[in-house]
Amino acid sequence: SSYVGASSGGIAELYAQMQKAIGATERVFELLEETPEKINSSPLAVAQKIKGNVTFKNVKFSYPSRKEIQVLKDVSFTANFGQKIAIVGPSGVGKSTIASLLLRFYDIEGGAIEIDGKSLYDFDLETLRGNMSIVPQDVILFGGTIKENIAYGKPYATEEEIFIAAKQANALNFIEGFPEQFETIVGERGIKLSGGQRQRIAIARALLKNPSILILDEATSSLDSESEKLVQEALEILMEGRTSIIIAHRLSTIRSADQILVLDNGIITEQGTHQELIALENGMYKNLSNLQFSNS
Ligand code: ADP
Ligand code: MG
Repeated sequence: SSYVGASSGGIAELYAQMQKAIGATERVFELLEETPEKINSSPLAVAQKIKGNVTFKNVKFSYPSRKEIQVLKDVSFTANFGQKIAIVGPSGVGKSTIASLLLRFYDIEGGAIEIDGKSLYDFDLETLRGNMSIVPQDVILFGGTIKENIAYGKPYATEEEIFIAAKQANALNFIEGFPEQFETIVGERGIKLSGGQRQRIAIARALLKNPSILILDEATSSLDSESEKLVQEALEILMEGRTSIIIAHRLSTIRSADQILVLDNGIITEQGTHQELIALENGMYKNLSNLQFSNS
């Protein structure tokens, strides 16, 4: 339902973009709102509003194409409505996989995932994905105007809503620097935006969409420090009032999380606040933390 303008050209274009993007996990995330289920249904179909309580209970998962590797062996955690939950751990350990499962890109093999106390699999995809937004490390925009890319989070958004979202996302300055402003064409045939600019467009889109559950997957890990500051500020605003799952590379971004989960070897090995985890002797979080803060 979240398309901009109902022209078939627009949808064909989205499909072309999807085809190109398939393969890279981060990109698939970005495209979750562009799946056929969504495109073919009425914009009024996002009926149910979910609250945003998320529970993983003894979740087991391996990718269908790589059954021999049990990515998640036994993962349990609860993120209550409005909380910020951070997931940290070495690369390749399954952090993004947790996000994929929540978005229902794959089915789990054991255990349960619940949203507001109900099985994830009892929700229709429309409701589920209509209530979630993800800001990945590498945001891909579709070929179209900046305005269309932002409004993608809410079809029929007013000009004023789009303007306010762009402002809150720290995107207004650079948008207004272009001669065509909100009508500037981006993507392959338009202006090339920097990674941080694309992320702020994605944040504006998410602000408009107003999801109950927000996933940030290493959203600030590839930015220079100036961009990072602007993006981080915008993310703080975006996280207010919703459940946020923050997959983080740079620990500085998650110090204030309500709960930090350390994922290693398929299980949650440490769980607590920053203060609690740095107090653990020989803890992985403590070690990562010492390493990162002594380097910066
Ligand atoms: P992280 O986000 O913690 O770096 P991922 O969740 O992306 O880790 O990946 C966890 C493991 O699953 C890795 O071994 C990765 O190679 C594998 N993996 C990720 N995506 C797929 C996929 N689509 N198909 C098969 N294996 C995958
Ligand atoms: Mg990842």
